[in-house]
Amino acid sequence: MRLVAAKKTDPGRVREGNEDGYLVDDRMGLFAVADGMGGHQAGEVASATALEALRAAVASGEPIRDAIDRANEAVLERSAGDERLRGMGTTMTAGTLAAGGTLLLGHVGDSRAYLARDGELTQVTEDHSLVEEMVRRGELTPEQAEVHPRRSVITRALGIEPGVEVDLYPVELHEGDRMLLCSDGLTTMIRAEEIAAILRGEPDPQRAANTLVEAANAAGGEDNITVLVIDVTGDDAGPAGA
Ligand code: MN
Repeated sequence: MRLVAAKKTDPGRVREGNEDGYLVDDRMGLFAVADGMGGHQAGEVASATALEALRAAVASGEPIRDAIDRANEAVLERSAGDERLRGMGTTMTAGTLAAGGTLLLGHVGDSRAYLARDGELTQVTEDHSLVEEMVRRGELTPEQAEVHPRRSVITRALGIEPGVEVDLYPVELHEGDRMLLCSDGLTTMIRAEEIAAILRGEPDPQRAANTLVEAANAAGGEDNITVLVIDVTGDDAGPAGA
């Protein structure tokens, strides 16, 4: 089994900067999206700091849960050392490919992972957001959540306190599967049905990633948009697979 990952990040049509970040490391089988927050570019520092710490931890053999904990500590340390970065934080949705073809996802915040299999799109992760918690308690319908004025308020992030709770989702990958990791700049702009249609309609992963970002921008592009489209292919029989 081999994973082929395409990535695309875009500031959107409203924001000045891009506080999203991503990480694709084919060699380690590591894929991550982080959506930073905090004033004066601090969000950019938060996502970049978290992703770098994640990479280092996975490279030194730590499992994804512990690696995300390292990322949390790194953001906390960085903001404690610089007054301008106080209060910054970031989401993190990250997967490592384990032997046997399982992608182990660790997740904090409201970025998302989806699995497209046999033409069906399934949301793998649960948002740590105010509106999603209200939906789970039956206080809002999913339709109300989509247009709620406070839909971008998240209830869990890296960089807020030590010992962050990380949700884990093992995904057993099959040949032909397609994973999508994305920031909320995609999912607050276009609906799951549209995402599913684009993933079905664009066999090339890079074109799919580009088209998703174009669709979010066409719908307003109110936030930074980041997408990773990861295709699960058969073993590479070519010389590069040796
Ligand atoms: Mn965002």
